[in-house]
Amino acid sequence: MVQNLGQRPVFFFDIDNCLYPRSKRVHECMSVLIDKYFMTHLSLSAEDATRLHNKYYREYGLAIEGLVRHHKIDPLDYNSKVDDALPLDDIITPDPQLRKLLEDIDKSKVRLWLLTNAYITHGQRVVKLLGVDDMFEGITFCDYGAERFVCKPDQRMFAKAQAEAGVSNAQECYFVDDSHLNCRHAQALGWTTAHLLDPSDPDPATRASKYQIRSLEELRTIFPQFFKSTAQVEAQPVSNGSETAADTEVAPSAAAASNGTAA
Ligand SMILES: [Mg+2]
Repeated sequence: MVQNLGQRPVFFFDIDNCLYPRSKRVHECMSVLIDKYFMTHLSLSAEDATRLHNKYYREYGLAIEGLVRHHKIDPLDYNSKVDDALPLDDIITPDPQLRKLLEDIDKSKVRLWLLTNAYITHGQRVVKLLGVDDMFEGITFCDYGAERFVCKPDQRMFAKAQAEAGVSNAQECYFVDDSHLNCRHAQALGWTTAHLLDPSDPDPATRASKYQIRSLEELRTIFPQFFKSTAQVEAQPVSNGSETAADTEVAPSAAAASNGTAA
């Protein structure tokens, strides 16, 4: 049941490679642990482990889903040995610029909500390390404890996020994510979406969504209606206009990415 938590729109933020940059190389760390998990639990060679990991990632958007469907792996055990085993304390540190950006958003105009394909333990750990855990009203995560879990870009995940955040109308949903696939699907549902590209990424052949940005700071420019009037617009190049290139579905190599998801 969708609760009525107010008339304000909701801004959904992805976490991994979105609230912190890809240059932190968390995905690479995670990929190593995922491959190790495949090798250990499925008795595979390193090469076969990587191949199967990437195959499940492409087919399900989440490597763990293939493990559960085909190998009866306990997803919570996987989570403890992959996401929760990441040495994040050494990698992710408080980000004052991110905090300032989130503080400058006028919460009387929009509510902030996290939307991740990771399990809740990982999601909460990351935002706490970034020093922004108190900025969000809630989190919608991939529930590894559920019999069948649902993750982005499945439209049921977006519906779950809306229900949990208490927003019934897709027109009231705003979203930023680094995954082309996730952004494309969110926009198809009517969410106003900004695809966050890494500064080093080429423009995709086909834009994922209406907005395309290379820094979260650009949210100030494309959604000025949500920022306090006193907020300073950073002098940053804006790239939200350009039409761009190839439909870069998340490459298998990027599969390694956060929790093996399109997160
Ligand atoms: Mg992400």
